[in-house]
Amino acid sequence: MNINPNILNEFIGSIGQNNVLYELSDRLVYECDAETIDAVIPDLVLLPNSTQEISQIIKIAKKNNLKIIPRGAGTGLSGGATAYLGGICLALTKMNKVIEINTDYNMIHVETGITNVDVSKATAKFGLHFPCDPSSQCASTIGGNIAENAGGAHTLKCGTTSHHVNGIVLVNDEGAIIQLGQKFNNPQDLDFLHLVCGSEGTLGIVCEAYLNLTPIPKHVETAAVYFASLESAANTVSTIIANGIIPAALELIDDVTLKAVEDTLQLGLDRNASALLIIELDGNKEIVAKEKEKIIKILSQLNNTTINWANSTKERLNLWKARKASFASLGRIAPQGYVLDGVIPRSKLALAINLIRKIAQKYDLAVANVYHAGDGNLHPCLLFNKSNAGALEKVIQASREILLTCLELGGCLSGEHGIGIEKLFEMNDAFTPDTLKFMEGLKVIFDESNMFNPGKILPNPKLCGESRLDNLAKFKISC
Ligand SMILES: Cc1cc2nc3c(=O)[nH]c(=O)nc-3n(C[C@H](O)[C@H](O)[C@H](O)COP(=O)(O)OP(=O)(O)OC[C@H]3O[C@@H](n4cnc5c(N)ncnc54)[C@H](O)[C@@H]3O)c2cc1C
Repeated sequence: MNINPNILNEFIGSIGQNNVLYELSDRLVYECDAETIDAVIPDLVLLPNSTQEISQIIKIAKKNNLKIIPRGAGTGLSGGATAYLGGICLALTKMNKVIEINTDYNMIHVETGITNVDVSKATAKFGLHFPCDPSSQCASTIGGNIAENAGGAHTLKCGTTSHHVNGIVLVNDEGAIIQLGQKFNNPQDLDFLHLVCGSEGTLGIVCEAYLNLTPIPKHVETAAVYFASLESAANTVSTIIANGIIPAALELIDDVTLKAVEDTLQLGLDRNASALLIIELDGNKEIVAKEKEKIIKILSQLNNTTINWANSTKERLNLWKARKASFASLGRIAPQGYVLDGVIPRSKLALAINLIRKIAQKYDLAVANVYHAGDGNLHPCLLFNKSNAGALEKVIQASREILLTCLELGGCLSGEHGIGIEKLFEMNDAFTPDTLKFMEGLKVIFDESNMFNPGKILPNPKLCGESRLDNLAKFKISC
């Protein structure tokens, strides 16, 4: 551990012995997030219990020029919570309280270590929920969701996390407690709130949030549509939207994933189909009925397509269980999976699927596809065994080619998982040097001493030469 004993005692004095982890075996748990290729054990782990405690921690860190890596549940998929340049992991999981629910304004005030699903559980009795539903929602925290501007299956209609955040309480690099945005949805300030949403812990610690809740839809129709080809499913997604229907969700799962999910959960899904498209409609009963009719008509014009509308809540929830267990089920096929997050224009879905397949073939890698197809957000998962010689190198090279393909098709690097350390190099492909310089300037305004999550999002030209970086497989391969 690289923390001076006097500083350690200062942290212990501030937040208590039980909230300071300095033993190697305790810190090891925090060595990475769900992007496990890059792992570095943090120098210290702090588990604060309040915004005030975070303020004290930041003041001590600032005085001693220490780096802080904020962390929620560590489910991130881009290495955002990994302390790859060393430093202190500040994990907010003990800050999981609901502070206030205001049903007049459909607002909930929470500490940001609360899980996404616990927000909706706390508000369900009022007929309200937090509509942004990442598949990791049982574990991922509101702080992590805000920092990554997380999406979910219902992003197509509901938008991403930032669309549902009225305000936040942030501890800045001086340890000051500031509010950005408002408790209710009536902003009066410069919109720094939406600068912080999606900034991946690089601008400050988001300690509390005022979230905007929405009514739980009264009428929902969900269908499992099975296709004879993935391309046909992809084209159907574009056709549905082109017909003026914006479903609540349009989620696409390929045959590899479908078989793995069915083998794991045995829900009675058609494991012989080439693709499963989950279509969900919600809202007003009459409108949903009309949209359902239109979708049935669109699908009736296709060959070899089967549509099963869920007849009960159980059937509907089983479909979502299947979708949300997709990545976990892939563990049946290979010990490691590398999930990408590129975005492409929806109309190029079928083309992108073919190009990704060719890249995987070129590197002799198996690929499973799970897509938020409605918003063109692709999650191809490259399956591999890292103990096989050369496997990791192939995955990293293929993943870079896939991301560059998304850019070439007019898309972007990330729909929801963020840049972290995973897509640092590709930032140079996605943005001009002037744009990156502008972003670096903004970071400096918020965080002069580069205390918060250093080395994330913004590519540093000296990166490959910096000490400790050569510990990381990804950098070794890419440099
Ligand atoms: C199986 C699986 C399914 C997933 N599905 C989805 C999905 O559908 N949609 C989606 O968007 N993502 C998904 N993810 C990715 C991940 O769950 C999200 O990025 C999530 O928002 C991360 O939350 P977390 O609490 O785990 O944050 P962490 O992983 O701990 O941290 C993520 C980033 O946020 C920063 N951070 C965390 N808390 C704070 C805070 N309080 N203040 C400032 N910065 C902070 C960290 O420094 C880091 O940069 C999935 C991941 C897995 C493993």
